[in-house]
Formats: sequence, structure tokens, C-alpha cells
Amino acid sequence: MATVLLVEDDEFVRSAIIRDLTGRSHVVRSAGRALDALREVAHAAPDVVVLDLGLPDLDGAEALKMLRAISDVPVIVATARDDEAEIVRLLRDGADDYLVKPFSGDHLNARLEAVLRRARAAAPSRVVRVGGLVVDADRREARLDGTALDLTRREFDLLAYLCARPDRVVSRKELLTEVWRQSYGDDQTIDVHLSWLRRKLGESASRPRYLHTVRGVGVRLTAPAAP
Ligand code: CA
Repeated sequence: MATVLLVEDDEFVRSAIIRDLTGRSHVVRSAGRALDALREVAHAAPDVVVLDLGLPDLDGAEALKMLRAISDVPVIVATARDDEAEIVRLLRDGADDYLVKPFSGDHLNARLEAVLRRARAAAPSRVVRVGGLVVDADRREARLDGTALDLTRREFDLLAYLCARPDRVVSRKELLTEVWRQSYGDDQTIDVHLSWLRRKLGESASRPRYLHTVRGVGVRLTAPAAP
């Protein structure tokens, strides 16, 4: 059970989804405009937001950015277009998952439960150090050589997972299951997040320091040799 904020301007769609989610014991609040949704997120702190991208007052991508500026709440975007470039952009802008309309109640509920599981996954209660990397899972802070890293929630989860398993090759499949909490999905999502994480660590796939790609398998996090 979760408190879901449904942002959808189509009344017919909205009432159908509310009926479905309520029937699955979720508590549903709703908004028909992006600005009302932002107000709702700021005041009511829902567990998860389902955000329609075609809203009357703000462009969906704009709404997502504004939402991200005020909250870390998991967001599933609902888009009418199966447009890969747009979806990649939305994931980069902080969406946790997406659904292409029309979707079934079962599908929405499965996505909701997956993002909630990820959000609620108990963080290990310890600080992990690998070389100059320090990851504090409780405070959700990561530092590299003493400097705080500005990571998205997903990048942090990915780094924390790898830091907890130094020197071990972790497969994309494992990352998908353990970090994304999905049993299906494409490798590209993981590769894109790894490349963002690399950039924030100041390294690249061709000149790795911590994150080493193991071709065809996955990735291994290893402390660089002392200079
Ligand atoms: Ca709409």
C-alpha cells in the first residue's frame, strides 16, 4: 500500500486509474495540472507520483524538472509517445520509470510496486571505503578524495551497490535485479547510468580509474593502484 499522487488531466482516465489503484489498497490523490501537483508534492509528500506528460499548464519535461527541484519522490512518467529519445531524456531528468499509454492497471501497479521496492530498500547501515571513494549509505552521501559527489538517487544506488562489492565483476543482469529491482529491461539503461556515474567520478570507459567495464559481462569497481 502506498500513497500515490496521480497527475492526469483527462478525467475519464483519471477516475479509471483511481478506481483501479484504490481497489489495490493504494491511497490515491490526484491533480489535473502540473502546478497543483507540485503543490501537492510539497505539502502531502506522496510515496510515488504518476505523471502524465500531456498536461494543460506545463510541458511534461518541465513539470518533471520542477518536481525534481523540490522532491526526491519516485516518479513514473506516463507518455503517449513511444519515443526513445524522449524517454532517455526523461530518465536523465529524474524519472524513475515510464509507461506508454494506454497501459493496464496491472502494468501500472507492477511498475508502482517496483519503484516503491527500490525506494524502500533498506540501505546498509555502514560507511564503505574503496580507495578514495567513501559511500555513506545512511546519509546517502558519497565522496571522492574528500569532495562530495553530486549524484542522482539512481547513480548513488548504483555506486553504493558496486562499492559494497569491490573487485567483483557485477553483471548488468545483477544490477538490473538488485539496483533497478526489475527482472526485465535493457542493458542500455544501465550503460547510460554507468556512463553518467563515470563522468561524475571524473573518468571514462576508455580511461577508467574505479569503474572497469568487463566486456560482455558487466562492471567491476576497483580502487586504483596507489601512485
Ligand atoms: Ca493528458
